Amino acid sequence: MVLVSLPEMDKDKPSPALGFIKAYIEQHGFTVKTIDGNQIGDIDSIHLTISQYEYKYLGISVFSYEQVDFALELGEEYENVIYGGSGVHKDWPHGDYIVGEGELALLEYLRGNKYYPGINGRAQVQIPDLAILPPPDYSDLNHSAYTSAVISGSRGCVRACTFCDVASIWPKYRFLGGERIAQHMHAVSTQTGFKSIGFSDSLVNGSMNIADLAAGVYILNIETNNGSLTQKVIKQ
Ligand code: SF4
Repeated sequence: MVLVSLPEMDKDKPSPALGFIKAYIEQHGFTVKTIDGNQIGDIDSIHLTISQYEYKYLGISVFSYEQVDFALELGEEYENVIYGGSGVHKDWPHGDYIVGEGELALLEYLRGNKYYPGINGRAQVQIPDLAILPPPDYSDLNHSAYTSAVISGSRGCVRACTFCDVASIWPKYRFLGGERIAQHMHAVSTQTGFKSIGFSDSLVNGSMNIADLAAGVYILNIETNNGSLTQKVIKQ
């Protein structure tokens, strides 16, 4: 499949959704080509880039409700299009869609099971254990366009602020252990060459044991500026 992100996102780091989905789906035998629509910018150029690939399904990653109009304008020219991301809502007006976490639902969709939870209005289920997720894969993206890449140490939040929609996206809070987070940091840093890794977590310190993370970074011997990353993690 081809999976495309949309403009109007941060320009200093790639869309984590593309990296998460590509890594998980390819682990199960499918090929995912990711297109960085956020860097491409205009809709005609995104169409042109999509046209360069052969694929069965086109996935459109809708990070925000502010991207809904652009997503629908882009997708209306295609058949076999599936939308996903935080900007997608129930009763989506075009194609197929996934509400909630995309990894498990998209894998089942590609296997031909369109009745899996989260697809086309069915109630979503969350991934019970984030440890099944590999590090995000940013190998398709132009690394020179960014200064850092993104991983996730958790999904959801331990708080319940009334103005916040995080609980509607991830009702249950789940987290990786510090050593596993360090492994993801190491994998992404090795793949992209970035020495700066950001977190997409809603709340980074929801339960993270920072000493575990520091130990994991140290054990993996990430080559930073004289170990400054390890020192910085320990200080924080
Ligand atoms: S993500 Fe932030 S605003 Fe939302 S519930 Fe958690 S602490 Fe509150």
